Amino acid sequence: TDFSQLGERFKMRQYLLKNIAEAGYKEPSPIQMQTIPTLLKQREVLGIAQTGSGKTAAFSIPILQTLKEPKKEGFRAVIIAPTRELAQQIYRNFKLFSKGKPFRICVLSKNLNSTNEPMSKNFDILITTPLRLVYLIKEGNVALNRVEYLIFDEADKLFDKDFLEQVDSVVDACKNDKLKKCLFSATINTAVEDLAKSIMDNPVKITI
Ligand code: AMP
Repeated sequence: TDFSQLGERFKMRQYLLKNIAEAGYKEPSPIQMQTIPTLLKQREVLGIAQTGSGKTAAFSIPILQTLKEPKKEGFRAVIIAPTRELAQQIYRNFKLFSKGKPFRICVLSKNLNSTNEPMSKNFDILITTPLRLVYLIKEGNVALNRVEYLIFDEADKLFDKDFLEQVDSVVDACKNDKLKKCLFSATINTAVEDLAKSIMDNPVKITI
């Protein structure tokens, strides 16, 4: 299967398929092959995959397909990444695949004094480090009631105790009928399983 076949099967947006092709992606990697259809079928995913397996596109493609067009409704996708570097990398991938559509993508990292506050409703996608998001929620500075995708990337590195205590408040802040959660981790252990169980309802487990 290549991306054009996957595109036909899921009636994927032409602009998105074009951007994927222009990025040089021909065939989906194994994690993409399993995760993209699962997320597009509205199921939640627990994905066990290493860095370098192509997991970024495994969630960015279904997110862009689902969001379709930029809207001024507030965030509809939130990606939580453990480090500033990973957040930037994810941002670049969304920029690459959304070329031609003016999606507003906000990337926030650890600096709590950043002036780049995402208070306006003009954003579509938020990429953030965990405690930065917790802080925003506490301040009441962020509209999350329309989030359709909540992604925990490299979840095994998100196990900062402070964050684990807050994870329910993050999920609660995003709660609505359309919300789907997805958790990626390089390793599977009890901590990851417990986190997945506490935030997801019967996810599809994908192991690469
Ligand atoms: P990631 O695991 O998401 O960090 O991706 C690792 C690298 O593989 C990145 O440089 C991607 O651009 C590249 N990549 C991911 N998926 C594909 C694909 N299906 N075809 C070609 N390159 C890919």
